[in-house]
Amino acid sequence: MDKLELKALGKINLGLDVLGKRQNGYHDVRMVMQTVYLYDQVRIEKAKEPGIHLSSNLFYLPVNENNLAYRAADLLMKECGIKEGVKITLEKHIPVAAGMAGGSSNAAAVLFGMNRMFALGLSQEELMALGVTLGADVPYCILRGTVLAEGIGERLTPLPAMPKCYVLLAKPPISVSTKTVYEKLDSHAIEEHPNIDGIIEGLRRQNLDQVAASMGNVLERVTVEEYPVIEEIKAVMRGEGALNAMMSGSGPTVFGLYDDKRKARKAAFRIKEQGLARQTYVTSIHNARRKANAKHY
Ligand code: ATP
Repeated sequence: MDKLELKALGKINLGLDVLGKRQNGYHDVRMVMQTVYLYDQVRIEKAKEPGIHLSSNLFYLPVNENNLAYRAADLLMKECGIKEGVKITLEKHIPVAAGMAGGSSNAAAVLFGMNRMFALGLSQEELMALGVTLGADVPYCILRGTVLAEGIGERLTPLPAMPKCYVLLAKPPISVSTKTVYEKLDSHAIEEHPNIDGIIEGLRRQNLDQVAASMGNVLERVTVEEYPVIEEIKAVMRGEGALNAMMSGSGPTVFGLYDDKRKARKAAFRIKEQGLARQTYVTSIHNARRKANAKHY
């Protein structure tokens, strides 16, 4: 196998709570993660020249060790003593610095793909243990599906699959640094914690309305303070029939859940018409977990 094409899927947070802060600066979180069918295409090829040769369709993305995909390849090559070269091509579609774990998902795809391509024989658990050294969301991006993430985001418990629905994603034209949002959160007293248990209960009952009604993100207040457009997008999504709408991760991407694709499309149209966001995507949730021997990744 000299060439492999993978889909690196994005995620949304159905719930995001922060429980405290560790001495090393990391926050203890409790999040319900959900994979969505918006993905970056990751191509991995064996190269004649040794080393890592990374390229992407976005001119502003680093193609060196500052790129998580590069770091994932470097890590595996060092850990497993790979001497051959590798060429990685990223076709980015997941909005960047947007709260959808695009970079983490690229890193997960590279770990998973190179493990197969070079027949390294690492188990999923081993890949996840390597992944967490690159970023707290990487193990989740290896696993995928509907998952409760605790600790710094690396302690994962699979949950019953999210009931089927449509997801409208809207990314306003601003970039948000996850680090800064968490830093600002520290100065806020968290008055209200999201109902993570309510989401889990809704998933157990396969009750989409209950899941939607229980959604909450403790980081939302911090980001909205600076970027009120997030609230405006949520209002349009709800006005057009979303079961609920919320910011994903540290933002600024906002998502709305819909039981009808036409409503989601209409809301996307309204958001663009009002100039709130140019990047909008109507997609669906994606529940399949990664399988080691699958034909599609
Ligand atoms: P999270 O949801 O985990 O907070 P995010 O969506 O906020 O992730 P990313 O899109 O992963 O953020 O990227 C954040 C930063 O990381 C960007 O500013 C970018 O320069 C850098 N980065 C490094 N590698 C990648 C990559 N492969 N794809 C996108 N961004 C990358």
